[in-house]
Amino acid sequence: MASLELQRLWKLSQIDSGLVEIRHRAANLDIGQRITAEIEALKAQDAEVGGRARKLSADLTDLEVLQKGIEDKLKKIDKLMYGGTVVNSREVENLEKEVAALKKQRAANDEKILELWEVVPPAKEAAAKIEAQVAAKQKQLVERKKAAVAEKAKLEADFVRLTQARPDALRGISPGLMNKYDSVRQRSGGIGMAEATKKNTCAGCGTVIAERMVQSLIDEKAVTCESCHRILYYTEGAV
Ligand SMILES: [Zn+2]
Repeated sequence: MASLELQRLWKLSQIDSGLVEIRHRAANLDIGQRITAEIEALKAQDAEVGGRARKLSADLTDLEVLQKGIEDKLKKIDKLMYGGTVVNSREVENLEKEVAALKKQRAANDEKILELWEVVPPAKEAAAKIEAQVAAKQKQLVERKKAAVAEKAKLEADFVRLTQARPDALRGISPGLMNKYDSVRQRSGGIGMAEATKKNTCAGCGTVIAERMVQSLIDEKAVTCESCHRILYYTEGAV
């Protein structure tokens, strides 16, 4: 069994470990960084796929407007030719030429329109799929941010609770042991103490504790791990 002083130090080290853990978790709090990156990637994809769909769609609209214009022109010429106002045979010939050219143009446009009718729907579908993915991720991001706020509040509350408990936990620990503990903490990532396991290893780093040191632990002396230098807490496997 560890001395009463070491038992007190163990309680203190539990508080300090808790504080280290809280700081670590606060520093690594997921406030949606990963989801934001995923959204950015999807948006880049959307710019490409969506851009293509928009371009094809616009091309189709342009062609349809063009086609409407040609139809109107043809109707006008038809009226002109059969309305009795054109009498000159050269004029008729010119109009017939124009009609032929317009019809050729109309046929070419029709072909393009048919092609676009094939490709526009799947392109739009692909773009809509990505947009839906973006929307879903954005929803996820809102949820993650909400959760992060709650996690942060919990960490802050825990931090306050442990910080307030610390002065009490310092009582009954000699300045000598305290100095030793603090210097170990500074060198060992804030964790100054580690349990000695049932198998006589250091729980902090896994190093086997030498037999003579185990004897010192049994004698309730302050023993540090040879490898990580943490003060060992010995409870004969009770902890
Ligand atoms: Zn160790």
